[in-house]
Amino acid sequence: MSVAIISHPSCIEHNLGEGHPEQPARLSVINDQLISSGLSFVCPQYYSEKVTKEQLLLAHDDAYIEHLFSNAPSQGIFEIDGDTHMMEATLQAAQLAAGAGVMAVDLLMKKEHRAAFCPVRPPGHHAERKRAMGFCFFNNVAICANYAIEKYGLERVAIVDFDVHHGNGTQNIVEGNEKILFCSSFQHPFYPYSGSEASASNVINIPLAADISSEDYREAVSQWFKQIDEFAPQLIIISAGFDGHVADQMSSHSLIDPDYHWLTSELVALADKHAQGKIISMLEGGYAINALGRTAVAHLKALMKS
Ligand SMILES: [Zn+2]
Repeated sequence: MSVAIISHPSCIEHNLGEGHPEQPARLSVINDQLISSGLSFVCPQYYSEKVTKEQLLLAHDDAYIEHLFSNAPSQGIFEIDGDTHMMEATLQAAQLAAGAGVMAVDLLMKKEHRAAFCPVRPPGHHAERKRAMGFCFFNNVAICANYAIEKYGLERVAIVDFDVHHGNGTQNIVEGNEKILFCSSFQHPFYPYSGSEASASNVINIPLAADISSEDYREAVSQWFKQIDEFAPQLIIISAGFDGHVADQMSSHSLIDPDYHWLTSELVALADKHAQGKIISMLEGGYAINALGRTAVAHLKALMKS
């Protein structure tokens, strides 16, 4: 079965101005590469729909959601932290980004597609239950996982976060939830400076040195595979951050496209074994405009088993 691509043109309209790394061009270069690689003609494409309030409540507090909705500006900027700002298009983009994961769950559960890739922004994995931070407002993967559990009764969902930053928001929302296994690898010490402390038994954090080689990275994250295998997930969700790429100035890691292809292929194999192939990837970080599109294509090819 095919791999769907789910996004929305309005995800590009969230624009915090020149110099902000979480910029509209991130999606433009991915779209360009999807077209030039021919994959956009192979993979069925969907426009996402806005996440509903009820779906947001699967991962966030009511008061927090109201705070964002009531402060979303019709003009100008609402500053949440030093680099997490809302402008007039932000709330809609964030609703459509989170809605992509919800749509992906529906498509996969109805067996219309085996897998889905959601190149959306703003990203989500730093957004905690009650706090926006690190360019993130709604936790796209946590909403996605909890939606699959609530709507379809899944009992085991694995979330794998290979962004170079710790998925603190996802951990904050899912730790202690035995229906979710959360795996996060990240450069450490590094923003957001979490993830090295003990957490709940459903959280597998892998802090990594700044100068780690591709070979050592692969060996380190391989410890996930046995634990995911034992967990036997009915769905795998990827927080796909590509900011550990050698071309990405955001981090010190030096991963290359084949590393992302390899890791994705390993997760696809686990999804095939336990989840009838069901795997959803949602874009997180990745700021190297000269490499992000190409890396996303390598990742998508692995999702397609090509
Ligand atoms: Zn990141």
